[in-house]
Amino acid sequence: MYGTNAWDDAKIIAARPPKNAVDPHRPYASLVEPECAANGQIEDVATIFLTNRECPFRCLMCDLWKNTTDERVPVGAIPEQIEFALSELPPAKHVKLYNSGNFFDRQAIPQADYEVIAKRVSSFDTVIVENHPKLCGDDCLQFRDLLVGKLEIAIGLETIHPEVLPRLNKQMTTNEFQRAVEFLSENEIATRAFILLRPPFLDESEGIEWAIRSISFAFDAGVQCCSVIPTRDGNGAMEMLLTDGSFEPPTLRSMETVLTDGLAMERGRVFVDLWDAERFYDCEQCGPARRARLAQMNLTQRLLPVVSCGCEATR
Ligand code: SF4
Ligand SMILES: [Zn+2]
Repeated sequence: MYGTNAWDDAKIIAARPPKNAVDPHRPYASLVEPECAANGQIEDVATIFLTNRECPFRCLMCDLWKNTTDERVPVGAIPEQIEFALSELPPAKHVKLYNSGNFFDRQAIPQADYEVIAKRVSSFDTVIVENHPKLCGDDCLQFRDLLVGKLEIAIGLETIHPEVLPRLNKQMTTNEFQRAVEFLSENEIATRAFILLRPPFLDESEGIEWAIRSISFAFDAGVQCCSVIPTRDGNGAMEMLLTDGSFEPPTLRSMETVLTDGLAMERGRVFVDLWDAERFYDCEQCGPARRARLAQMNLTQRLLPVVSCGCEATR
């Protein structure tokens, strides 16, 4: 592990580039893509990226604040965004309402909107939202009770590395993560974990090792699904860490190793996030085939033959 600088809220905010302009009455993006569902079938999932007030946490690696407002959006704006997105998207079985923060942060999603939101998504089998362990409480149960479909909550575990997790400024311990998953499981709410591959302060092999250990920890805690996110720059602080040598993005090969080991555990679904995966290619010849293999492994949850390429000889 390397790098010793401490990053607090003020320093992280000071490093930020400007936010994007967003409209509180429109989601900032939406899409439908297939995913391996909890039942093992490949099913379409709509993801609606809701526009709302910025998350009050300031995690070192987070760039989700870029598409957020400074103030709370008015009551009614979130249901309007959902209605707009669903009118444009093809049908899907499940929906992710991702709000660049925590769904149960009342400054982000007004509690007064829960009922209408639940109505808007009543045709979906599963409703997946993101939330911080500190905000997993009675509001989750209230929203669960309003839904026709099943509620699933995605929680950023990030890493269980005992020195790196506190340095991510996430304001969360692994115990808090465990307690949140336990509380949600007891209340019949499914959970998934987001896990960072190679967060700052780790080299490539440590990045792989701690991603795999974190997946194992998340399954031990009771999650049904782990989604591995290759750590990216793009929020200001990460560029500074890149410059001072405390961070380097992981390679596509490391993504292959972690997904392979995660699937081999056979403890639940494991995905690797392939959004802009091109930036992690280290060989233009085999990069696209490796990406396609990972996409298939995500969908089928099966190990597939490795891609061979002449570049291996030079490694
Ligand atoms: S809790 Fe999530 S949305 Fe909020 S700063 Fe951390 S990573 Fe970003
Ligand atoms: Zn190659």
